Amino acid sequence: MKRNELYKKALTKWGEDKQLDKWEEELTELLLAIKRHRSGRDVSLEDIVSEMVDVEIMNEQGMNILGIDQQMYYKAKRQKKVRLEKRL
Ligand SMILES: [Mg+2]
Repeated sequence: MKRNELYKKALTKWGEDKQLDKWEEELTELLLAIKRHRSGRDVSLEDIVSEMVDVEIMNEQGMNILGIDQQMYYKAKRQKKVRLEKRL
């Protein structure tokens, strides 16, 4: 199944509000995984990668829900990377 088709099905099944809740939930899970890692508690790289992927998938779904096109996203990403480079 193609990405947009998959995300459209998820949105149809669960609705916008639940998907936005899920987006927040996945961001929190990644935040907590990073905090566990930083505090020396037991968290595997696989756990962190899993949470990163969850966030990436929800970012993509969030873009669809909010109507953010990829051109806008990648333009902002390029600008942020240039800004980072200038700070170094
Ligand atoms: Mg997760």
